[in-house]
Amino acid sequence: MGFEENIRRVVPYVPGEQPKDKNLIKLNTNENPYPPSPRTAEAIRQFDPGLNRLYPDPAAGKLIRAIAGRYGLEDSEVFAGVGSDDVLAMCFLTFFNGGKPVLFPDITYSFYDVWAELFRIPYEQVPLDEHFRIRPEDYDRACGGIVIANPNAPTGELLPVEEIERIVGAHPECVVIVDEAYIDFGGESALPLIRKYKNLIVVQTFSKSRNLAGMRIGYAMADASLIRWLNDVKYSFNSYTMSRLAIEAGAACIRDEAYFAECCRRIMETREKSADMLRALGFRLTDSASNFLFATHPDVQAKDIFDYLRGRGIYVRWWDKPRIRNYLRITVGTDREMEVLGEALAEFLRRIATALR
Ligand SMILES: *Cc1c(COP(=O)(O)O)cnc(C)c1O
Repeated sequence: MGFEENIRRVVPYVPGEQPKDKNLIKLNTNENPYPPSPRTAEAIRQFDPGLNRLYPDPAAGKLIRAIAGRYGLEDSEVFAGVGSDDVLAMCFLTFFNGGKPVLFPDITYSFYDVWAELFRIPYEQVPLDEHFRIRPEDYDRACGGIVIANPNAPTGELLPVEEIERIVGAHPECVVIVDEAYIDFGGESALPLIRKYKNLIVVQTFSKSRNLAGMRIGYAMADASLIRWLNDVKYSFNSYTMSRLAIEAGAACIRDEAYFAECCRRIMETREKSADMLRALGFRLTDSASNFLFATHPDVQAKDIFDYLRGRGIYVRWWDKPRIRNYLRITVGTDREMEVLGEALAEFLRRIATALR
């Protein structure tokens, strides 16, 4: 046996495709269909590239202050990282250090089990009910931590904040992470609970509701002691995580409240219209409070629809996984993109009907 036996072998997370062709309709990775705010764009233009000679502020102070200001928090209650993937990975590493299993749903963000495997954290996947909803009482047992995406992905289902509070309150022995990547599309955040529950950490991102997936900015909000422990781990790993440009762009972005609110409003409006359109075509949908729809059709395999759409340059997301194999996750794009999607789906269903005749 050689060196191979000492290698850490992992099955990595598989991100959605990022095709190069700009003419495609890209509804597969839940990016915002609208560009970053004008104030963000201006901050990026104003940025002096010469400053990149110097390391950035390891504490990302300007960004932390902007986020803390937006949410009415102290700087000591905010942590920032390279997308919420980085923030969540740091949270797993910092908070899930016991022998008991960490709990999260069987159908949820598929990075959670990857991090658990990578960091050798014991975990158990708790099945969603038959409507793909989280049953809070299923989490009433001893565990080493809990992770809830709210709204959940890829189902889009939102848990009322009272249910989140029930879970957090029942588990003073462990840290509960609430991943609110999609909370700005109509949900109520668990953020006010962080002052009441010292074991709660709320994670959000600039990638979806703040139009900045490419800049890689995520953040966590919690009691200052949790943030301190998180920083200790981060500084033991990589001190300069946020680039100078990301700090500037992020701080400018979060100050443009009007643009943020308008983009979220539009996406929610398009979501409801698109849901009606899909239902009219015979699809069944979960109740999504996010910027995507989760749809299945009783007469056609999701994989066949996925392949057909792909052939027409429309990318959506499909997983070859138990329980959700017959579902498609469709990001809410612009009204026009969703119309083109609707036309393609109608055409596909017509062809199927003709073939069956
Ligand atoms: C998109 C997403 C994230 C991470 O996004 P980042 O771009 O890394 O901020 C985290 N959790 C869920 C549930 C997501 O859908």
